[in-house]
Order: sequence, then structure tokens, then C-alpha cells
Amino acid sequence: MTTPQQHPALAAADPELAALVGAEERLQADTLRLIPSENYVSAAVLEASGTVLQNKYSEGYPGRRYYEGQQNIDQVETLAVERAKALFGVDHANVQPYSGSPANLAVYLAFAQPGDTVMGMALPMGGHLTHGWGVSATGSWFRGVQYGVRPGAASEGGGRIDFDQVRDLALKERPKVIFCGGTALPRTIDFAAFGEIARESGAVLVADVAHIAGLIAGGAHPSPAGHVDVISTTTHKTLRGPRGAMLMSREEHAKALDKAVFPGLQGGPHNQTTAAIAVALREASQPSFRDYAHAVVANARALAEALLARGFDLVSGGTDNHLILIDLTPKQVPGKVAAKALDRAGIVVNYNTVPYDPRKPFDPSGIRIGTPSLTSRGLTTDHMDQVAEWIDRAVTAAGKGDEETLRTVRAEVADLMAAHPAPGLPV
Ligand SMILES: *Cc1c(COP(=O)(O)O)cnc(C)c1O
Repeated sequence: MTTPQQHPALAAADPELAALVGAEERLQADTLRLIPSENYVSAAVLEASGTVLQNKYSEGYPGRRYYEGQQNIDQVETLAVERAKALFGVDHANVQPYSGSPANLAVYLAFAQPGDTVMGMALPMGGHLTHGWGVSATGSWFRGVQYGVRPGAASEGGGRIDFDQVRDLALKERPKVIFCGGTALPRTIDFAAFGEIARESGAVLVADVAHIAGLIAGGAHPSPAGHVDVISTTTHKTLRGPRGAMLMSREEHAKALDKAVFPGLQGGPHNQTTAAIAVALREASQPSFRDYAHAVVANARALAEALLARGFDLVSGGTDNHLILIDLTPKQVPGKVAAKALDRAGIVVNYNTVPYDPRKPFDPSGIRIGTPSLTSRGLTTDHMDQVAEWIDRAVTAAGKGDEETLRTVRAEVADLMAAHPAPGLPV
């Protein structure tokens, strides 16, 4: 399939590395990639991120740089900024954060002092490390208080954010900053409810939409604009851009955020990434991207139904977005065992804690899956029963140590994938 000829200079200069890139291209082509934070960028995004913009230093912002020679770079960054503002309906966008975690650090730098109280969702409940969790700098430099989801059966609201707890905690602890959003939340985030609580408690509210930015851009999830002070997002998940991040806000917070990103936290922006972000934002403003975003959700819903029909236990009972969190306890297969067996079957997922998980984070009860990548390859709701059937067979095989079945599924997966070439990958 892919040969080193795709990268002639690299193949000539460093055959060892070129071979690894080629192998990764084959792996991404052959497998069913279900990690909900991953995707396939377009060939255009890939090209933009591999340009000579790489060679340029540009500390500062368009029109106010500390280096000369910005005739083109200023226009590149301005394009990205203007496209982000138009797409997300915000006054201000900063496209320089190196990734989601540094973007969130910049938010702390802008609005809190070390030792201040901050609030976010607990990591094992579906929050992100950078929302004040203990092992992260954000949990040791700040005093992190953490909310979660309701315990109990999905039919009684289990697995959904407990807004009574969020309000009580916010009024009692008076955090400087509240984060909403997370990495393992299968349900719509009620930004208006968070907005009300943040106003009552006097906190700066940050919507970290890293996972769902593409759904928001495509109209498949409500927008936080107008409900929150700051929108933080990565650009490489459902938004389908390069690895990077953005911070967005009303004019009122523009200066504080810009100062926090540079010179507060970072040096020169990665201009090749800025360019690729601009390309991805242009793609995300097209009608076809709306179709993609809605198809991501439709596929996740269909996959959830097909899994429920096979007796899988889904946290919160299903999904509203791109992501499904499966509690494998009833299947009597630990998450890590299942994830590794699925990997051998050509289905790439990650093991994940489930809310109130009795097992340890490195050996938890669940797996987390999602539909962005398969949707980008053109799989539809018609394929989701087959995907669920493979997951079911592989998880059952994992429980029995049945490697033969995993090899069979691996071959079936590769056949379907060959019929649905991935964007950006050489065929
Ligand atoms: C992925 C993610 C991040 C971090 O992004 P990185 O680019 O991996 O640093 C932050 N917040 C949320 C909610 C995420 O899902």
C-alpha cells in the first residue's frame, strides 16, 4: 500500500524513520480507529502543517511582533483568527497555544493566583487532568475541588452531571475558575446551567470543548458562546485539524488571555500549525462539515443502540455526542484486557475508568470508544451493527483467550477499511 516513495527526501535521508512513518500509515489505514479524541486530517491540513512556515520565529501577535520578516506569517495567523471568530461566534480568538493542556494552563495564568481554589470535573468521572486533578500541575499549584456525575442506574440519571453538587460546591468553595467539559462525557453539556452557577458564585467559567469542538462547529452540539467566559479547545479531535489549541472569549478577556499565552507561558508560535488550523477552520465552515458532524453523532447513537442490544452496559445509558463509555463489569472482562484484545483484532480503543470505578486507573473497568475517525472514512449508520458485532466478538474472545477469533475479526476489519480509504492517507 504505502511505500517510502511518498516521502522521497525522508526515505533517502533517514530510511529507518521513513519506514516507521510508512508502517504508521498502513496501521492507520488498516484498522478501525475508535479512540474518540483521534481523527484523520485532510491532505490539505497535512500539507499545511509540513511547510516552510516551520522555519519562522514570530513571538508576539500579528502587527506586534518581536521579529521582522512577518509579511506572510501575520496574514496566516490573521486568517486563522478571523476564521475561528466567524465559526464559533466569538469576539476574540488566540490560535497560538501549543496544545490543549498549555491552553488550559494559560487560562489559570490569566485568571488565578497559585493557591487559589479552582473547580472542575474529577478525572475518574470524565474530566481532564488539567481541570485541577491532583497529579497535574493544575491540581498542585491550585486548590482543586472536583465535581462528578450521579451514581446509580442510567434510568435514574446515573452517569449524568450532578448540577446540585456543582452548585453546592461552587457556592461553598467560591472557586476563581470553573471548568466544564471533559474527556469521557457521552452527554450534551448544559452550558447555560453552568453559566448560571458561575454567575451565582462569581467564578470565571471555562468551557473546555476539546472533544466536541467539531460537533459545535458543525451544529451537532449546542455552542457555549454567550454562556461562558472562555472557550478552550484543541484543534485535533472532532474539529479535524492539526495538533494544536485555541482560546476564545468576548473582547473583555482578550488581553488577559493573549498576555497569558505569550509572554506568560510560551515563546514563538508554531506557524506551520497555525496555517493548518486555518485550513481546518475553512473546511469546518463548509456545508460538508455539518454533514460530517451530524453523521458522527448519528453513528455514535446507532453504535450505542447496537451495543445495548448485545447486552453492553453504557455509562449514562447511551450517547448524545461522538463518544461511548462502556462499563465491561457485566461482561467480566477488565477494560485493559478488552482494549488489548480489540487492538489485536484491529479495533483501536482505550481502556478507561468508569464513574465510581472499583478498579484502579491503570486497570479499570471500562473502554472508551467514539465515531469521529470512522465517520471521516465514510462509514454510516448502516455499518454500526457490524462494528458492534466485532466489538462483542472480540470482547467475548478476550474473556476466553480465543486468539483465533481475534485474527478472524482482524481480517474482516481490514477488508472493510480497504473499501473506505482514509482522508490524508496515500492509497
Ligand atoms: C484532549 C483534552 C485536553 C488536552 O489536550 P492535549 O492537546 O492532549 O494537551 C484538554 N482538555 C480536554 C477536555 C481534552 O479532551
